[in-house]
Order: sequence, then C-alpha cells, then structure tokens
Amino acid sequence: MDKAQLLKQLEEETKSADLPLKESATNIVFGKGSPDAEIVFVGEAAGKNEDLQGLPFVGAAGKNLDKLLAGAGLSLNEVYVTNILKYRPPENREPNDNEIRTHTPYLMKQIMIIKPKVICSLGNHATKFFLAGCNPDDMDKQPGITTVHGKVRMIEIDGMKIKLIPLFHPAAIIYNQKLKVEWDKDMLIVRGEIAQKTLV
Ligand code: URA
Repeated sequence: MDKAQLLKQLEEETKSADLPLKESATNIVFGKGSPDAEIVFVGEAAGKNEDLQGLPFVGAAGKNLDKLLAGAGLSLNEVYVTNILKYRPPENREPNDNEIRTHTPYLMKQIMIIKPKVICSLGNHATKFFLAGCNPDDMDKQPGITTVHGKVRMIEIDGMKIKLIPLFHPAAIIYNQKLKVEWDKDMLIVRGEIAQKTLV
C-alpha cells in the first residue's frame, strides 16, 4: 500500500474509534495535502468552518497559513496539514488532557506514515506536544510558544530524526500586530530551512 492508501485506511480507523468530541462534531477533520510531503504543519483543533467542511485550516487562520505557504514558495501539493485533535472542541475551547491523550496516537500514526523531514508546530499545544517527546503527560513542563517560536531543533519520532520549527498559531497573529512582526521573521526561518536542498 502507498502512503495515500495507508492514510485513507488510518482515517477510517480514526473515524470508527470512540474518541471524545466525536459526538458533538459534524465531521472528522483528519488532514489535507500530500501524503508524500516532506513538511507537515500541525495545528490545534478544528474550528467551525473546519468542522463543517471536514478539512483543517479553511477558516480565517487558514488564510494566514495559506499566506505562509505562498511566502515560503510552497503549495498544498507539497505539504500536509493536520491538527493534534481530530474533532472540533465545542465553542473552540482549548483541548483538555484526556482529548490530547486519546487523539494524539492517531497524529503519531499519520507522522509515521508520512515520514516528514520537517514539522512546523502551530501554537502552544502542538509545540508542547512535540517538545515533550510526544508524551502528553510531559506537556505541562515545556516552555511556551513565546519562548521557543522560530527556534529550530531536532526531535526523534519512531527512530526518525525530524526538524521541529515551532511557530505562533496563525489565528493568534490575526489581530496582534506585534506577533505579526515575529511571525514574518519566523517565516524567513521556515523559508531558509525549506530552501536547503538536504532538509536533514
Ligand atoms: N486552528 C487550528 O489549529 N486548526 C484548524 O484546523 C483550524 C484552526
């Protein structure tokens, strides 16, 4: 089976899992983009538009992510976009510990299928998850996105060495001009990392 087929199979497995938030959601929001991507963007959870369409980052935050991709010279055909939660939390509240613990094994399986060279974590939750070595119990001990954004580091997932680039959440920069300045600087870092012929 190729990566696209494996991801499709995993999506079906995720859909049939008895996950928290499944009951209140309209659709699963599993992921979009290329199964063969070298770069994976990981956000937090679906909002209203994502829940309705069953696709990540299609609302206002998605517009910023689209700009990021365009600025870095990337198209959706070259990246994969997903979230740590696979269903929308009601009223867009923050994910709780149990949701993170039960949903992230599916994120891990997505990463193990895609085998990316770079992961851009979007916002606090995704960033802390990867900094914690993908152990939700250690997320509390990790520094916040304000401290670590734009700082590239190597992480290891299932024996794969992956470059982690923590970024502010694209929704956070919509109304915050100061963060927008930081975001633009981080974009140069993303562009630089992507421009390297050998990503790792
Ligand atoms: N914010 C996220 O973190 N993910 C989405 O899919 C949409 C908004």
